[in-house]
Amino acid sequence: MDRPVTDLSVTPNVLQADILRHLTFTVGKDAPHASLHDWRMALSHAIRDRIVEPWFASTKRTWAEDRKRVYYLSMEFLIGRILEDATINLGLYDQAAEAMAAVGQDLRAVIGDEPDAALGNGGLGRLAACFMESMATLGCPAYGYGIRYEHGLFRQQFEAGRQVETPENWLAQEHPWEFARPESAYTIGFKGHVETRDGRDIWHPAETVIAEAHDTPVVGWQGKWANTLRLWGAKSTGQFDLERFNRGDYTAAAEPETLARTLSRVLYPDDTTYQGKELRLKQEFLLTSAALQDILRRYLANHSDLKALPRYVAIQMNDTHPAIAGPELIRLLQDAHGVPFDEALTIARACLGYTNHTLLPEALEKWATFTFGNVLPRHMQIVEKIDSWHRRAYPNRPHYVGIVKHQEVRMGELAFIMSHKVNGVSALHSDLVKQNLFPELHRLHPGRIVNQTNGVTPRRWLRMANKPLAGLITDTIGAGWEADLDRLKELEPHVEDASFRAVFAAAKRVNKVEMSNWAGAEMGIQISPDALFDVQIKRIHEYKRQLLNILETIAHWNKLRANPKGPWVPRVKVFGGKAAPGYAVAKEIIRLINDVAVVINADPVTSDLLKIIYPPNYNVSMAERVIPAADLSEQISTAGKEASGTGNMKFMMNGAPTIGTLDGANVEILQEVGADNFFLFGLTAAEVSKRREDPDHSKKAIEASQPLQDVLQMIAEGRFNPEEPERYHGLVHRVWHHDYFLVAADFDAYHAAQAEVDKAYADPDRWWRMAALNTARSGFFSSDRTIRSYMDEIWQASSAL
Ligand SMILES: *Cc1c(COP(=O)(O)O)cnc(C)c1O
Repeated sequence: MDRPVTDLSVTPNVLQADILRHLTFTVGKDAPHASLHDWRMALSHAIRDRIVEPWFASTKRTWAEDRKRVYYLSMEFLIGRILEDATINLGLYDQAAEAMAAVGQDLRAVIGDEPDAALGNGGLGRLAACFMESMATLGCPAYGYGIRYEHGLFRQQFEAGRQVETPENWLAQEHPWEFARPESAYTIGFKGHVETRDGRDIWHPAETVIAEAHDTPVVGWQGKWANTLRLWGAKSTGQFDLERFNRGDYTAAAEPETLARTLSRVLYPDDTTYQGKELRLKQEFLLTSAALQDILRRYLANHSDLKALPRYVAIQMNDTHPAIAGPELIRLLQDAHGVPFDEALTIARACLGYTNHTLLPEALEKWATFTFGNVLPRHMQIVEKIDSWHRRAYPNRPHYVGIVKHQEVRMGELAFIMSHKVNGVSALHSDLVKQNLFPELHRLHPGRIVNQTNGVTPRRWLRMANKPLAGLITDTIGAGWEADLDRLKELEPHVEDASFRAVFAAAKRVNKVEMSNWAGAEMGIQISPDALFDVQIKRIHEYKRQLLNILETIAHWNKLRANPKGPWVPRVKVFGGKAAPGYAVAKEIIRLINDVAVVINADPVTSDLLKIIYPPNYNVSMAERVIPAADLSEQISTAGKEASGTGNMKFMMNGAPTIGTLDGANVEILQEVGADNFFLFGLTAAEVSKRREDPDHSKKAIEASQPLQDVLQMIAEGRFNPEEPERYHGLVHRVWHHDYFLVAADFDAYHAAQAEVDKAYADPDRWWRMAALNTARSGFFSSDRTIRSYMDEIWQASSAL
């Protein structure tokens, strides 16, 4: 569609007038007394005004053309900041910078004042946010449905190296991007009993809450289309008890409200471990039931034939968290609209798709039938009906396959059986989903499992986060690559050009200088922008092997100390990431990294050669700052454990070669970029399984590696924590004797690969060729490619543009 993209009438003067008008009439301040926060509100409202127009137009078009809509159900949306992203997508960044300068404000400071919307843990939630942006860019009519947590992911601080969590409070200030929709509210029931009357089942919930909608528009590249992120807040159905209040019983009067609000109060701070908590199940049902009621209301506003629902509605379940969607949709169709069970099941399955995100057994959701049946008694009946229908429909189904087994409801099986398509998130992961996770269901339903390799939005992760590189790309290949990332291939011929490589390196250096200044200001640690920035930022988890990285860092330090005058490449080791509050082993790794950093950073012998920084509270904004400054991307998970990774893609786009294992989307990164431009090491997924069969694998690996023995010995002796030398005895013992994640087995290969990195970095021609080729070959990892593929292969949805 050829509509005007950037509205040229929005000059800096026009925008400035809008900002001042909002400062006066929305914020209620005059310019001399306005704080940074006030200016941010004024600018945000001025920008938001410009989104509302394409938002209305998109909604109207979708209604007028009676288009199929995609509904993305996710317990997490890790959005980050909105203002800069929206400004850039509207093409108003330069105008905004000028307008703010004209009122004496620095746009970057104003942008930096916005708190991150941290409604997610990590990759899964960030994927949902990238998908929302890509669906808007592609003009795919879509709604994201999630929960409006009052407190997003906790804030991380370090006290003497230990992680301390404090509550995150993103709604403490006014949130200018959302529109409350109290008229879009649904009753959500829990518990109670099911009555059968005249052959119909009627659920009488014992508890009810109201789910109330809060809408945030999500605008795509160049403002051509905007979709809605609809987040549900929970509130009480009960009337405020004025009588009690007047009797002075204030707390009791507020009790129902407090209880209801608990449901949307906090985000569970862990997406790698299944939480068997009733509150979690209630949150999942709140999201899912509200979304489905909303979807059916919208559908029935201009349709009456529920059998045609799948032609107009595609519902994607982001992991099993919303897997109750299968039974809930059947319940609504059957109990509220009189559709017979078999027909309701067919309709539901044709609408639903399920994305699997993990093979980690501890992350697979299962609910005790007691809990499930207690919280959702009607759904328990429906789940059993689905299960027996499936057993009848597939009589050769092995007895151990099914949804309800050993008094548990298995949400993976439920999601699988209730979906017409199931997808993994990288080629390797999708294969493992077929072979290891659902082998029997895959055999019964061949063709149902498909692959959709993840992607990230290049608008946020390249154009916005890395303006020096984005500018260079536009100067080199012209405008428009942001929405057609395969065009980055056009950079390839330039990579052979030494002057192009020099500009590429200079762009990286700008980012590294900025990051050095930030590290100096935030942490008081001086790092040199001439050093190699070696970065591992992601959630702290044993399978991601931050431990391998810090052990190798110590081995590297030993090498430096043995020969401080050697031809070493100076390095800055950057760590970032949060551990789930209850994950003791991950917290121990954090403490070890911080302890090691204190000792190494204080060593005068190596002070020009090695520094370790671990800035606290890793979040989207920190990723946007650090990834563009990275030289080396650490993607070193135990093969077979990382479903895809998306951090790996952000680094690649930003010109940082990967040091990594053959895991997740690393496999495809390696394929795209070529083995010469990737530092591959370590056991493959198949070799990992095989190695584990040897109960002495770690002991043997350690005994064969002098550098690793030395490192473990130093830690065991308390070299990094003389005040409490035995602090890491447990950790060292586990590496020697358990080491499920094969840190020891991969140590030597990793150490050697790091030496290769040094060699490559010492040769600038080679290095910058590699770095630039990483950017040039990253087009495949745009989430636009991913979304197009979902639209074709799962949703059967088309672009309205
Ligand atoms: C991209 C991203 C992630 C995912 O990183 P992985 O390395 O793929 O685990 C997690 N957190 C934030 C803030 C991100 O931006």
